[in-house]
Amino acid sequence: MSQATASEVVNPATEEVLRTVEHTGEAGVDDAVARARAAQRRWAAQAPAERAAALRDFAAIVDAHVEELAQLEVANSGHPVGNARWEAGHVRDVLQYYSAAPERLSGKQIPVAGGLDVTFNEPLGVVGVITPWNFPMTIAAWGFAPALAAGNAVLVKPAEWTPLTTMRLGELAVESGLPADLFQVLPGRGSVVGERFVSHPDVRKIVFTGSTEVGTRVMAGAAKQVKRVTLELGGKSANIVFDDCDLERAAATAPYGVFDNSGQDCCARSRILVQRNVFDKFMELLEPAVKGVVVGDPASDGTEMGPLVSKTHWNSVSSFVPDDAPVAFRGDAPSGPGFWFPPTVLMPERGDRTVTEEIFGPVVAVLPFDDEADAIALANDTVYGLSGSIWTENLSRAMRVSRAVEAGNLSVNSHSSVRYSTPFGGFKQSGLGRELGPDAPLSFTETKNVFFAVEEN
Ligand code: NAD
Repeated sequence: MSQATASEVVNPATEEVLRTVEHTGEAGVDDAVARARAAQRRWAAQAPAERAAALRDFAAIVDAHVEELAQLEVANSGHPVGNARWEAGHVRDVLQYYSAAPERLSGKQIPVAGGLDVTFNEPLGVVGVITPWNFPMTIAAWGFAPALAAGNAVLVKPAEWTPLTTMRLGELAVESGLPADLFQVLPGRGSVVGERFVSHPDVRKIVFTGSTEVGTRVMAGAAKQVKRVTLELGGKSANIVFDDCDLERAAATAPYGVFDNSGQDCCARSRILVQRNVFDKFMELLEPAVKGVVVGDPASDGTEMGPLVSKTHWNSVSSFVPDDAPVAFRGDAPSGPGFWFPPTVLMPERGDRTVTEEIFGPVVAVLPFDDEADAIALANDTVYGLSGSIWTENLSRAMRVSRAVEAGNLSVNSHSSVRYSTPFGGFKQSGLGRELGPDAPLSFTETKNVFFAVEEN
């Protein structure tokens, strides 16, 4: 049996220790699963309208604590305060949206001979949600809100570096009146808490968001019990800029499509593909846009980019920009304490590791392409398939290219990826299954078909 441990949580903008967080051990997970199981049975037995009201109460208490949650995320993750406020508000919105689900999981009545045939959407039981450090609150909510709405209990394991806002959401759930043990946050190590979620027979589904490397291990482990999984993994998304687009707007917005959250975004458009005949003009326009990104104290209103999450991650991102890297230009970043890394634009060759590997930092590779077919081939030349953007004023081209790019979330003439009311997830090694959107609660249910024989008179 593993020993409980603890870790220090650090403010990435100052390198100051914020708090020491106790880690849950394997016995703690087993105890939490047992309590969650009992709570789930009571929850599923409640009237749908009662469960809906409980989720609305949870949303209301999150709404009343948006500023507190935002400030906590600024301190723990270094997110600019404007982004952090949006994230906390998004948790409220996701809860509010899925609070409608308990009264709408209606199943089907299917016409058959000799009786009545109906389907029920039965809850799975206990669901384990494992989250990464880049968007702690929002990604947790994408799992727990629809899972609770579908009648399940949820255990969340936040990432080691950024557990504080998720832990606070666990407290707020209890304060809102959500039944005890139904929603529990278990900080701890992936190798202990995460692996126990995967191996515990009473955890019936894993929602994992993180690296493709760990995601494949989770999937392999879950296979031993035919345990359900949703996987949201890495990305290397393309921002494709055609010569017929509004080039000024494409260049002005491109930095925000990749440097948002310091590039620590699975949807980061970290490859900008530009049609060769407008390449030089695009680079001229991109330079002032990159230099204009406001990098600094995440607690200040107006800051657009904060630090990287940790020194370990800073070392990983830095390894992609050695002294002889093909740097086109860079933006600014503060010096002194904090894990600062300036927005960096590279012009590498197509096969370079900065073009093929997920960097997860503010580093973008810009590459020229010749024509539409070349752009599509280049965009798809990756094991990933999460997101991407297409810039063109030609409607037919927008249609052709958006159907040809192998990715789950595309936007034409913008960089939007996530809306709680639309499905989100990846093709290829970017993931399995979809989160958000109207169907998400169904992925936390089993379909049960029941036939009632009706006797003839
Ligand atoms: P990670 O894979 O290192 O860790 C993710 C989570 O898994 C953490 O909570 C970690 O403790 C846990 N974990 C580690 N080992 C485990 C194991 N053996 N069993 C179970 N759980 C384990 O990822 P990270 O570095 O925290 O996050 C960055 C990655 O997440 C990037 O690749 C990024 O693209 C991806 N991501 C994907 C999405 C998406 O929606 N597709 C969203 C955000 C982040």
